[in-house]
Amino acid sequence: MSLELPIYMDYNATTPVDPRVLEAMLPYFTEHYGNAASHSHSFGWKAEAAVDAAREEVAGIINAETPAREIVFTSGATESNNLAILGLAEMYGQAGGHIITCQTEHRAVLDPCEVLAKRGFEITFLQPDEFGMLTVEQVAEAITDRTILVTIMAANNETGVLHPIAEIGQVVRQARQARPADKQNLFFHTDATQAIGKLPVDIQEMGIDLLSLSAHKVYGPKGVGALYVRRRGPRVRLSPRIHGGGHEHGMRSGTLNTPGIVGLGAACRIAREEMAGESARLAALRDRLEEEILRAIPYVRRNGHPTERLANTANLAFGFVEGEGLMLKMRDIAVSSGSACTSADLGPSFVLSAMGVSDMLSHGSIRFSLGRFSHAGDIDFAVEKIVTAVAELREISPLYDDVLKNGDDGTIEWTKPAGQ
Ligand SMILES: *Cc1c(COP(=O)(O)O)cnc(C)c1O
Repeated sequence: MSLELPIYMDYNATTPVDPRVLEAMLPYFTEHYGNAASHSHSFGWKAEAAVDAAREEVAGIINAETPAREIVFTSGATESNNLAILGLAEMYGQAGGHIITCQTEHRAVLDPCEVLAKRGFEITFLQPDEFGMLTVEQVAEAITDRTILVTIMAANNETGVLHPIAEIGQVVRQARQARPADKQNLFFHTDATQAIGKLPVDIQEMGIDLLSLSAHKVYGPKGVGALYVRRRGPRVRLSPRIHGGGHEHGMRSGTLNTPGIVGLGAACRIAREEMAGESARLAALRDRLEEEILRAIPYVRRNGHPTERLANTANLAFGFVEGEGLMLKMRDIAVSSGSACTSADLGPSFVLSAMGVSDMLSHGSIRFSLGRFSHAGDIDFAVEKIVTAVAELREISPLYDDVLKNGDDGTIEWTKPAGQ
């Protein structure tokens, strides 16, 4: 296969729309453009039927029981997380209510939690271990009589690390059932945006009551997502964030984005069919990328868990270089750095910091995330570029010069320089 530049290795940030998804969407822009809420003519019926079919696909990929009632379409995972967390807090909580989350969650979970903290809720931000993982015991110990919500992501976007979701779901369920019948207001939400399409997620087996997902992380379009809201055992009720018309069982008003929803449905269908093969293929490519880099470059370290992580993600810390500088040197490769590059601040990644990664290492960290259109040629090209770029940057680094003369301080488990 010929190499097309630049090479995209940032699939955890967003994915291209799969051509098959686009094809499924197109008729719903110009031909079947009815409003899914128009019940008096065939234009509306056609749109509604397409939305219903997409609901089945979304429900199918997480094993939801009643698609028509449990899948709420939103504008993406950010909105789904906000609806889940704020909607639940407003429905069940009052000041003093308690929510458990993790320090390495996406901002779309952390920020709504911060908002609730300002309103008098108590929020526990659990700290993961050095691999970025929580234990189920940490969650169990944090649950109190006042806890209304545990929200823990299935897979981390920066490191790919997987939390023990099924075990956490079980602990939450047990804690709920231990309460008196009229006080069973304790639910489990997971932001599964990075897990969907990459590994099997089953809301029944995992005891998940609320689940967020997003189309553009699974080869669907941007601006559409869904929230799964459990209807039975237990029934979860949410106070809406958006009012006006009562669409989506009153949980999310607004005319449905039919083409986007059709795209999300098609993306889920393809993901379900191809996930197993795709994950195995990506794991092999990711391992090749990681092994080649670790073999060729001294003073590199993996961030995250060696095995309990997504098949497509590698997060590597390059000692004695700046991630931003490294990215500039390899412009042909689209990756993300361990610096939080929001416009105002270029601080270290809070995800890596929470795992105990030093600021210096964090600034030298790069996330490589592969996907459906990655192939072996990309990996080999990228490895070559990275090896050269790191060598060039270290050449002019006074810090590295120092290490060459005196050795490093031995506090970090690096790959070893040749001959050691
Ligand atoms: C991308 C992402 C989000 C945000 O999703 P949008 O659809 O872009 O709002 C939330 N959580 C995780 C883990 C993500 O990776």
